[in-house]
Amino acid sequence: MELDVIVIGGGHAGCEAALAAARLGSKVALVSGNLATIGTMSCNPAVGGVGKGHLVKEVEALGGAMGRIADATGLQFRRLNASRGPAVRATRVQSDKARYAAAMRALVGTTQGLTLVEHEVDEILTEHGQVRGVRATDGTVLLASRVVITTGTFLRGRIHVGHEQSDGGRMGDPPARGLSASLRSLGVTLRRLKTGTPCRLDGRTIDWGSLQAQQGDAPLPRFCDDGPPPPLPQRACHLTWTTEETHELVRRNLHLSPLHGVDRTIEGVGPRYCPSIEDKIVRFADKPRHQVFLEPEGLDTNEVYPSGISTSFPLDVQQALVRTIPGLERAEIVRAGYAVEYDAGDPRELSPTLEHRAVRGLYLAGQVNGTSGYEEAAIQGLLAGANAALASRGETLTFGRDEAYAGVLVDDLTTQGADEPYRMMTSRAEHRMLLREDNADDRVMPRGHALGLVSDERMTLHLVRQRAVDAELARLASSMLYPNEATQARLASLGLVPIKKPTSHAELLRRPEVDYATLRAAFGGTDDATVAERVETQVKYAGYLSRQDAEVEKLRHMDTLAIGADVIFEDVSGLSNEVREKLARVRPTSLGQASRISGVTPAALSLLMMHLVARGARRTPRKEHG
Ligand code: FAD
Repeated sequence: MELDVIVIGGGHAGCEAALAAARLGSKVALVSGNLATIGTMSCNPAVGGVGKGHLVKEVEALGGAMGRIADATGLQFRRLNASRGPAVRATRVQSDKARYAAAMRALVGTTQGLTLVEHEVDEILTEHGQVRGVRATDGTVLLASRVVITTGTFLRGRIHVGHEQSDGGRMGDPPARGLSASLRSLGVTLRRLKTGTPCRLDGRTIDWGSLQAQQGDAPLPRFCDDGPPPPLPQRACHLTWTTEETHELVRRNLHLSPLHGVDRTIEGVGPRYCPSIEDKIVRFADKPRHQVFLEPEGLDTNEVYPSGISTSFPLDVQQALVRTIPGLERAEIVRAGYAVEYDAGDPRELSPTLEHRAVRGLYLAGQVNGTSGYEEAAIQGLLAGANAALASRGETLTFGRDEAYAGVLVDDLTTQGADEPYRMMTSRAEHRMLLREDNADDRVMPRGHALGLVSDERMTLHLVRQRAVDAELARLASSMLYPNEATQARLASLGLVPIKKPTSHAELLRRPEVDYATLRAAFGGTDDATVAERVETQVKYAGYLSRQDAEVEKLRHMDTLAIGADVIFEDVSGLSNEVREKLARVRPTSLGQASRISGVTPAALSLLMMHLVARGARRTPRKEHG
């Protein structure tokens, strides 16, 4: 088989990587240990959320699959933070797990140029520091000069339930045993991380009537605004809380937890922002209760996912714990919760294209880079797959921190590393007002389209919408209201203060008490909710947005000062050994990236800048959109 790109792994990163490389015209093989598990949601049955939804919108705007498959299999659609500022509003879709995975399998299985191969890969083949292909455990060799590794939690995966341990990449799946040694021999640094998942409950044993139901939002917020309406019936989730009895039980049994027991059998570092119930009760000892959302796993199953009580206690303790929670007094566990430890790489060894700096043609994406979450995996997969395909054309796909959460994620990983599982949050983005869900298409689609990742049809829909936004902004700026009787009466009927002088619709919309829906009710406007939201944000936050633009412009100056691959940090006089080591480890590609490495001081930066200028530093022009 003649191949351009091999993707190892069929999880969220692997699928997006293979699809992106195929969209760019590469001949791709997606090699996975078990093709039946392609697209599996290993943990919660939901896609999106604050920060994560932003990433999914970017995946969607780059022609990726995650958003539209979540939409097509969605059982509940919500807009989180709908009443808060536009930067933190986010889409979250609860999907039918089995249908999600089946749809993803069908898509990758029918994509032109993409072949599925069932093998466990245990060796990366190289020649003089350049990837040549992979070898599977049965000796099969596949050749390609680009390989994308997306092995998730599988590298030397070890599962813990209480003090019982077994080898596994995920419950029910064997680990990848041999690949870690091959990666190490190539100079890839690996360390242990861990993550965990709650038990699953039998929905027939839950007292639903005693619980608070939470319905989805209407109209349905979606990842793909132009997609068909979601076809599946909608389901509520239900809310309950842990009790003092739960907390007491956890404290009494801590010695049985592989995380907190005396022998601490888990060494891997766990996710700070998705802690186990054991961690929550130890770390937030004064909190009297913790929320538990009961989420249906699908239409054809009674399994329910209790979000918030991830645990690795022994099964009998898990069962007792569940029954201390209101509504779950009779609940039966159908699958035990567990923790999994696995090998993950050090993303500081990667360049911003996600290629390993020591091995040409080797890309890493997803959980193997120290992140946690489907969405973080998907966007990395898309970028790594695209870059692997683009390499033969001498092109790359990267984003700045001011352009996309994808840029923030990759810059954080490659500059700061991930000492503990990294998940995206809006607070990680310094320009978050510019990186909203509603403008993801503006921010990333033109570049994706220019490279061939996004179809003409999708780009045309975007341009039509963008024109509608521009036209509505122009109309609001030029439509005037005069302080006459009819206008004042109309304003009064909406409970609004009268105007004193001629006022444009845009000026009226800028008032805190006026939203677009009110303005439209009184004086007309667009029915397109997506256009309306973008117009409202651009008008109301115009001052703030232009201040952020100005800040970005200042920082851009540093980001365009390139640090060539031939710069030797030992030669920069005046730098401390500590700074030299940090620079050598991360190998920043610009002065801006160097400035974000912790411990690189302003004084060190100015020495570095002088050195670059003395060598005749080159400014890298930023790629314009489109
Ligand atoms: P995965 O989805 O794990 O996919 C890895 C793929 O690689 C699989 O298809 C596997 O078969 C294949 N593979 C591995 N090694 C080889 C090999 N050598 N040869 C061939 N194929 C191989 N995320 C959250 O956001 N919050 C959570 O609370 C959370 N908890 C989790 C708990 C558990 C127990 C697990 C397992 C995961 C959890 N996740 C959680 C993480 C989430 O599932 C992952 O972040 C996401 O699935 C990572 O996607 P990925 O594509 O990197 O890897």
